[in-house]
Amino acid sequence: MNGKGRGLLIIISGPSGAGKGTICKSFMERNENVALSVSATTRTPRTGEVEGVNYYFMSKEKFTEKIVSNDFLEYAEVYDNYYGTPKSNVEEILESGKDVILEIDIQGALKVKENTEEGVFIFVLPPSMEELKQRIINRGSETPESLMKRFKSAYKEINYISKYNYAVVNDKVEIAVQKLEAIISAEKCRVDRIKESILDSKEGIIHEQLYD
Ligand code: 5GP
Repeated sequence: MNGKGRGLLIIISGPSGAGKGTICKSFMERNENVALSVSATTRTPRTGEVEGVNYYFMSKEKFTEKIVSNDFLEYAEVYDNYYGTPKSNVEEILESGKDVILEIDIQGALKVKENTEEGVFIFVLPPSMEELKQRIINRGSETPESLMKRFKSAYKEINYISKYNYAVVNDKVEIAVQKLEAIISAEKCRVDRIKESILDSKEGIIHEQLYD
């Protein structure tokens, strides 16, 4: 690990159409010491999506092999496709001292919660259910059936908000990103995160931890 210590594992989820992707993209543009985990998926690429940037696209067979060899930190079936977070990438980035964002669905977030002690769990909410519906329609990439499916699941998914540490309403992207930045700053100041370095370190390192 470098002098900065282990990075933060940040899990961002919320219903389809809440705008997690937009928030994450904007957050990534404004912040350097953070990486977005690239997931594996069995779904077909959408126009403009790039292998290794948006997802690692793979067959169901390859995905199943990876499940068997325990390569995923979590995986889930979402809208008839499989999605999973490659474990080794995430671990490497955290060890290097960088923060990692997992932009994943709610089932996946709950599995991360079961499997690891770390993690800051953030739930992104739409300003209203009507707005959520409109955003999914505006995306234009869904069939009427998949639109209904996503909208119905959104109602169910919102019930899981109590499992999360923070909720951010995505009314204006700029404000939502500022809230995300505030959450992460606060998490980095938590005494239980920096306690060991305060107790074990010499003064210079204490200063680095507290004022980095
Ligand atoms: P999309 O097909 O629109 O890119 O993503 C569909 C859903 O899958 C989104 O809610 C997205 O957050 C979620 N998702 C993307 N990657 C992962 C992953 O690695 N694990 C889980 N559990 N969900 C994911």
